[in-house]
Amino acid sequence: MVDPTSDLGEDVDESNAPECEHCGEMIVRSPTHRVVTWVEDGAARHRHFCSDDCRAAYDEQSA
Ligand SMILES: [Zn+2]
Repeated sequence: MVDPTSDLGEDVDESNAPECEHCGEMIVRSPTHRVVTWVEDGAARHRHFCSDDCRAAYDEQSA
């Protein structure tokens, strides 16, 4: 299935495994995979994290 939200520049390409925004680890069918989505400037954005730990660490850095 083609994802129509392909205007995110360097963001996720569905044909590649996403990388954790915090540690850069490739996320391949990880049970601890976390995706954070939000809307910015009217467009849906998302970040991938390999675990809740990385998500929390990233949130702390960007807070
Ligand atoms: Zn990570």
